[in-house]
Amino acid sequence: MLDYLIHGGQVVTPGGVGQWDIGIRGEKIVAIAEAGGLTDEVGRVIDAGGKIVVPGGIEPHAHVAAPIMGHPDAETAPPADVSRAAVFGGTTTLVDFAIQFPGRDIFAAIEERNGRWQGQSYSDFSYHCMLLDAIPSDVILQIPQAIEAGFPTFKIFTTNIRPNVHDRMARLGHVVAVMEEVAAHNGLMVVHAEDDDIVQFLYTRLKDQGTYDWTHMHRAHTNMSEDISFRRIIRAAEWTGAATYFVHVSAKEGVQAIREARAKGLPIYGETLHNYVSFTADDYQKTHGMQYHTYPSLKSEEDRQALWHGLLHGDLHTMATDEYCTTFELKIAGEQIDNVTGGHNGVETRMGITYTEGVVNRGMPLQQYVDITSANAARLLGLYPRKGAIAPGSDADIVLIDPTLHKTLSMADLHISDYSIWEGWEIRGWPVWTMLRGQIMVEDGRLHGDLGTGQLIPRRIDPTVLARPMC
Ligand SMILES: [Zn+2]
Repeated sequence: MLDYLIHGGQVVTPGGVGQWDIGIRGEKIVAIAEAGGLTDEVGRVIDAGGKIVVPGGIEPHAHVAAPIMGHPDAETAPPADVSRAAVFGGTTTLVDFAIQFPGRDIFAAIEERNGRWQGQSYSDFSYHCMLLDAIPSDVILQIPQAIEAGFPTFKIFTTNIRPNVHDRMARLGHVVAVMEEVAAHNGLMVVHAEDDDIVQFLYTRLKDQGTYDWTHMHRAHTNMSEDISFRRIIRAAEWTGAATYFVHVSAKEGVQAIREARAKGLPIYGETLHNYVSFTADDYQKTHGMQYHTYPSLKSEEDRQALWHGLLHGDLHTMATDEYCTTFELKIAGEQIDNVTGGHNGVETRMGITYTEGVVNRGMPLQQYVDITSANAARLLGLYPRKGAIAPGSDADIVLIDPTLHKTLSMADLHISDYSIWEGWEIRGWPVWTMLRGQIMVEDGRLHGDLGTGQLIPRRIDPTVLARPMC
């Protein structure tokens, strides 16, 4: 007896793409067979004719119910809002951040996140451990226990990002100490890498020059800063043996540094964002141009092309959002490069925009589309093959994409307030049906399931991914 049979679609599995039927029982995929090959009794047949069937998307980088820099009383949108947008957009797992603020240890940070997420999410979830500033030795000593508890990824910043912020950047000594623990216990470094000396100097110089309005953001967060910081982190990773995942790669130099490190056999991985591959620093000049901004910064057209080249040729491994969902009013409130708001509310558009821009407009193979939107994040963050694969034994996290859905995106298509930088974008194909662990979440444009559906998923990374470049 199967609960569901998904029939007639073009299915993307780890072994290839084909016209297969998928049998689902309870929360799991239990069988994959040639079309018509599953003869069990079936609760309900889902007609996937004409659709592309992919694993539920995994958003590896989401700041949910998070403090907003420069706005001490405000928070980004809560799990209920973000996870609802996620499942409408074909993403079934979100990875947020448990922040170890000064005076709080890793487990207190995880407890705090559990209080925000449990029973309040339509998608599955987990958290990276975010370690800040002068990371205390007792916190560094908790790293093995955190990995054991299912939280094997550790985010650090090499910059305070903007002036007058003093509690974010980890200096290299602390970074190396974290790397040693992470490398010894099968964890992964998650690094926001920019050179703080360069960034802070450039803020000061731009102010002195009277070029401080936000259209100059990319002149403070530069290609040189990314280049130097990536290479410094890669050297530290090589010395310590720590596998490292660079978040939001924005510059061609970042892609190049990752490519060179991987050519030496180092387990170095890179993420980019769907706004980085769709916009450039020229968009800062538009009315409300700051709505396109995510830190470090948008760069040039040449960089944008280099990011696509990296995704298509295996130098970059995930398409993320750096989800940071605020109101439009707050997003565009800052006027200077030191008081704007980063991130955007892209979780709903990530799968669909990547399909249009990657598969349709650039000929990306479907298998690679699945890798960068789901499977690689699952491999790197320790969710694979439970997540990120349409295979027997995997969770039945399944999304149908309708490749015939061609339209101009409007706010009426989206489920998150109250703006979208994707309004007016031409899309060719969009996620139309979402299942999470055997439960239909979105069908016929309507939300099913409830806030208790999403669960915390313990993570454990396959050691081969941490030993050498494996995706
Ligand atoms: Zn981020």
